[in-house]
Formats: sequence, C-alpha cells, structure tokens
Amino acid sequence: MTHEIDVGLELELSRVYGSQLRVLLDKLRTPPRRLYIRVNTMRTTREKIIELLREEDIVAYPDEYFDDAVYVTIEGPFKLECDTDKVIVVDEKTATSLLLGVDLYRPGILRSDYFVERDRLLAVTRDRIPVACIEAIVSYEQAYRMQKGLIGVNISSPYKAPSLISTKPYQMGLIYLQGAPSIATVHVLNPKPGELVVDMNASPGGKSSHIVQYTQGKARLISIDRSESKITQLKGNLARMGLDINVLAIPMDSRYVHLDLDLREKVDKILIDPPCSNLGVRPVIRFNRSMKEIDDLSRYQRQFIKAAYHILKPGGLLVYSTCTITLRENEENILYAVEEVGFHNIELDDPPSYSVKVVYKGIVGYRYSPLDNDMPGYFIAVLSK
Ligand code: SAH
Repeated sequence: MTHEIDVGLELELSRVYGSQLRVLLDKLRTPPRRLYIRVNTMRTTREKIIELLREEDIVAYPDEYFDDAVYVTIEGPFKLECDTDKVIVVDEKTATSLLLGVDLYRPGILRSDYFVERDRLLAVTRDRIPVACIEAIVSYEQAYRMQKGLIGVNISSPYKAPSLISTKPYQMGLIYLQGAPSIATVHVLNPKPGELVVDMNASPGGKSSHIVQYTQGKARLISIDRSESKITQLKGNLARMGLDINVLAIPMDSRYVHLDLDLREKVDKILIDPPCSNLGVRPVIRFNRSMKEIDDLSRYQRQFIKAAYHILKPGGLLVYSTCTITLRENEENILYAVEEVGFHNIELDDPPSYSVKVVYKGIVGYRYSPLDNDMPGYFIAVLSK
C-alpha cells in the first residue's frame, strides 16, 4: 500500500520513530488484536460481564493489568470479497467501523451509486480505499429519505470484531468501549474520594465516567466540554451507566476556566485530554494531516495547560493525554508546561501498563504504540504544581 503522508508530518514522526516509521505506519493501518472494554465496577464485576457476554456468544478475557478491563479479540485479516460494480462512499469514522465488520448506518454515508434492496455495494473511503461489502436492506430512495437507521448488512470485511453495542451489558450501561491507554489514563490520575477533579475535555465521557466509578462516586467532578450538544452527549453516557453522581457538567470553553469559574488553586487533580490529530487511532484510514494543522493543534492544547495551572492547588496533579503520536502535541507541550508555565514533570515509579517510557530534553512521558504491545498510538504525561 502506498503511504500518502504529508512530508512535514513524515519528518516530524521520524524524529520519534526513525527507521521504524514505515513499520509503524503499516501497523497503524491495521486494528489491534485486542478490543478493550471497561467494566462499570460501580454496578457489576468483571466475572459477571464475562459471563453475560458468553451468553451472547462473545468470548471476553480479563486483562492482566487493569482490574476494571476485559478484552475481546479481533479476527483477520480476511480477503474482502464483493461481487458488484456499485460503490458507496463513506466518511472516515464509518470506514473504520466497516473495516471491523460493523453494519452500515445512514449517518456516515457521503454518496452512492443507485441501488435497490438486496443489492451488494462496495463501501469505499473518499480516496476509494475499499473497506467492506454491504448488502442493502433498503433501497436508494428509502436511504435517501432516512436520517438514521440501518442501511445494509456487512457481509465481507478485512477484520471482524464482535458487535458489542448491541449486547445487553452495553445497553444496560455495564460496559464502556475504550482503548487500553484511555483506561490507563484514569489509573494514572488515581482520583480519590473527596478530591475535587476537573476534566477539561470531558465529552463523550469515557474518562469522566471512569473517574466516577473509580472513586465510587465520591470525588467531586467538574466535567467541561465546549458545547451544549457535547454536554448532552456526556450526560447521556453518564446516565446510561448510572454514573451521574457528584458530577457538575458544564458547557464552556475550558481555556478560560480560571476566568469563568471561581476555582483558583482549589483543584486537586486535572485531566487534559484535548482535541488532537488522532494519528494513533487504529485503524488509521488516511494520514490526512498537514504539519500546519499539527502546529495549530499544539498551540490550542497549550492553552488548556496554561489555564489549568491557575486552578490547580499547589501539590496538585495534572494528567495530560492524547491519542496521537507527534512530538509537537506530546513531549513538546510538556516541555512548554515545564519551561514556560511552571509545572514540574513527574516520573512514575512504574510506567503505565503497556506503555514505554520516553525521555525528551529532560522531560518524561509514556508512549503507547503498535510497535510495543500492539497498542494504539497514545501519550500520557504527569505534571504537578
Ligand atoms: N476525554 C474524553 C474525550 C475528549 S476528546 C473521553 O474520554 O471521552 C476532546 C474533547 O475536547 C472534545 O469533546 C471537544 O469537544 C473538547 N474541546 C475542544 N475544545 C474545547 C474547549 N475549548 N473547551 C472545552 N472542551 C473542548
């Protein structure tokens, strides 16, 4: 497969991965073997989840390190077979799930050839990369009029993951689908009952809901995201899981949290999980990021770090995480936090499970990558004040 990647971005990534870059990019295009699930330990146990999933013919295994995680395995690669000349174009997020064998729903469709019920359609990305073979269950006209709902069944895909969102444990709010590094992030934050915690980029609520269950609802959590709709989504997830306990969810631009909320030096722990270039999310469909975008994102991320400094207590802890692999958005932002904002960078006694410690110009962070333990690309660093 050819690597369409911005030259600047390629250079940036070779600063980290050197001669391993090609291997890394190839691996990022494939899903990891394990698909992780966080167990809602406030309402159930791992054993119970494994049992409930087994009743639905899904085999889940307890993770070796995280006591609140289980995983299922992704099978493949298989040959994608599709006897058709009809094409349906989908967005990247949809392409990622189609690759894993998920059925096709209306929202991700960008355009399509004409089709009738039971026609086969080759689903492709904007760049014409084939991702799955779909058998339509509605006609083109019907699909056209729909805003959501099932359009077709996935009958051939390069990978197959069990469909978890249709299971009882998911619908009952007993599990949350989340990668291992994301699960690790809240373990690193290690929130305690009674602590005041601020999640500065909270929606859709993976880590916020984890903080609640981790403290059995006894931390005081302020979850911020930038719009009403994001906060509605977050509240929906917390409610589904029965984890809307002691959470104040606020639609707000958290880059100004120190100006808008009366929190100066009051917060025990802060999580910054900002928007990022998402280059670690597997399978990556397209490395469609320019260095200009990466620089802009990095500058945006720094504003959260700066605001956080004002509200964190002396002695308080900040965990910074991203699901991307550039230096700019990771190590260099931590260097900024130390050199220009005044944070101290903390080295953990043990690297978070499945991560690798990295040292860059004197600062320490933890990277996840497909090159180590078949993980997605991800970064965690810890700061204190
Ligand atoms: N921590 C979340 C995922 C966060 S993704 C989880 O575990 O589920 C990054 C989030 O940052 C997005 O939801 C985005 O809306 C939010 N965001 C972007 N700019 C923001 C801003 N200025 N203030 C607050 N949130 C912002």
